[in-house]
Amino acid sequence: MSVQIENNPLKFARKILSDLRASEDMGLLKCVQCGMCTSTCPGAKNSDYNPRGMVEKVLEGEESIISDEEIWNCFYCYTCHSVCPVGNNPCEINQILRGIAIDKGIANDKVGSFAGYGDSFLTIGIGAMPKSFFMELNEDIEGWLDFKSKLEEIREELGLGSITISNESIEEINTLLKKVGFNKRIEELKK
Ligand code: SF4
Ligand code: SF4
Repeated sequence: MSVQIENNPLKFARKILSDLRASEDMGLLKCVQCGMCTSTCPGAKNSDYNPRGMVEKVLEGEESIISDEEIWNCFYCYTCHSVCPVGNNPCEINQILRGIAIDKGIANDKVGSFAGYGDSFLTIGIGAMPKSFFMELNEDIEGWLDFKSKLEEIREELGLGSITISNESIEEINTLLKKVGFNKRIEELKK
């Protein structure tokens, strides 16, 4: 006779493991809660973000972790993955949790400002810095605006081709992005 275990806490972990973004060999279920990931994580050093704790919550089936503000303090350096003794990947888990948060519409304030990157794929066919960031970037990197205005010239001097994509290719990119729902997602982010 088989025993039905209701509310299996590993259901959430299995959902993470079956996500398209999860590596096939991700050792999520092997996590021994050693804390190596947190002890080496630069995000944890500078905030209350705790990759070990995040993995623990996933394994305990606490889906509320997707609403935890701290998960937005990971910046995908993959140090956690390189030190994990069982091959787990908190970085990837974080990406999947954020993806779920975005799909549920509870993280638009975190990613809305990046919608401009999405627009650039639609208008010029490549990911480019939104114009709204230009002035801030120029304050952080001296001469950046000047460099940007001379980019084509510099590329030519270096023997590189133009960065501009043909209208025909941009149209193809738009068709593909539309088919996968990219445009719709960008519009939702902007709301
Ligand atoms: S380093 Fe790996 S095994 Fe240790 S707590 Fe982090 S994810 Fe789990
Ligand atoms: S990828 Fe994220 S969780 Fe992993 S060490 Fe870097 S900041 Fe920390």
